Amino acid sequence: MVYCSECGKKNDDDAKYCIKCSALITRTSSFEKNIERFADEFGRKAEQFGKHVEKKVKEFVKSLEEESHSELKHCSDCNVECNYDAEYCWKCGKKIE
Ligand SMILES: [Zn+2]
Ligand SMILES: [Zn+2]
Repeated sequence: MVYCSECGKKNDDDAKYCIKCSALITRTSSFEKNIERFADEFGRKAEQFGKHVEKKVKEFVKSLEEESHSELKHCSDCNVECNYDAEYCWKCGKKIE
């Protein structure tokens, strides 16, 4: 069954013109509207999702930075920053406590 877009009358699937008002039956209109709505909705969702992911990534990177920063050691001799797993200063060779 198809519905006339003009008067809403039910028509046979293969009807070309509405049996009530003779309007041309267009079968694609509601389908296209659905696709448009879907694309709209999907676009909005994708945008929200993108923002959400971006926020999460930023938070993650920030937490990583904070973490790695707190794990940095400083050479007691020359005070350069050394990797948290360094045993000796990369600059002066002193053993890091
Ligand atoms: Zn009609
Ligand atoms: Zn040093």
